[in-house]
Amino acid sequence: MRKHCCETMEHQVNYKCEQHANPSECPDKLIFFNDKFDEYGIIFHDGGPSYSTISFCPWCGSELPESKRDLWFDTLEELGFDDPVEQEIPEEFKSDSWYRNQK
Ligand SMILES: [Zn+2]
Ligand SMILES: [Zn+2]
Repeated sequence: MRKHCCETMEHQVNYKCEQHANPSECPDKLIFFNDKFDEYGIIFHDGGPSYSTISFCPWCGSELPESKRDLWFDTLEELGFDDPVEQEIPEEFKSDSWYRNQK
């Protein structure tokens, strides 16, 4: 299990609401963690699947890791996937293992 900066963040990232399957409809779910991009975001509660990436934890102030979104696309492109969102990509790229396994 991955560690997050503080208890509140931990709680937010792992929070699953029973009443709202869609996080953007849940007033208690504030943070979305995208593990494949190593990216934290504040969820906009406008009904859409949107969030705004954040660089610092709103509760403890810790600096959060820099998003690996660009690196994800670059790395996959090098492997020959020019449209990874549509293509069938290696399993490790669907979670955080693609960057956690490389040193
Ligand atoms: Zn924190
Ligand atoms: Zn809810």
